[in-house]
Amino acid sequence: MAGQKHRIVRLKGRSRCAFTNTSKLADKEIKTALRAVHSELSLDRVVVHFKTMGERRWSFGRAYAGIPGVMNRRGLSIGEWDYLITIAVDDDPIRWVHTLAHEAKHIDQYRQRHYRGRGREAACNAFADWFMRECWSGA
Ligand SMILES: [Zn+2]
Repeated sequence: MAGQKHRIVRLKGRSRCAFTNTSKLADKEIKTALRAVHSELSLDRVVVHFKTMGERRWSFGRAYAGIPGVMNRRGLSIGEWDYLITIAVDDDPIRWVHTLAHEAKHIDQYRQRHYRGRGREAACNAFADWFMRECWSGA
């Protein structure tokens, strides 16, 4: 099972992120969201996998403090990538962007070596709420 080939997205400040997309989202929507989030929190060297939601009601994300050994790497150069985010996408056009912003904040916490302690989830939710309110006008 090789998995889908990654697409590389050029971001501001010579940064790059990469994604795969097996969800119903258009790649263009994804790129718009990645660039919008990156303008607030770095997504440099971050890989994002967009998948289709199973039975879950809400979009569901996870941020990894590293690249898992079993991750699909098609189209990626070894050593150029530091973090993985996975996002399961449902039909709600807002929710997946909120989840992306939330997980981007977790990546920022990893970069700051803020791995544990109180308030991590609250900080991610606060950032995502703020992002949706102040920065996001749709893909
Ligand atoms: Zn979280």
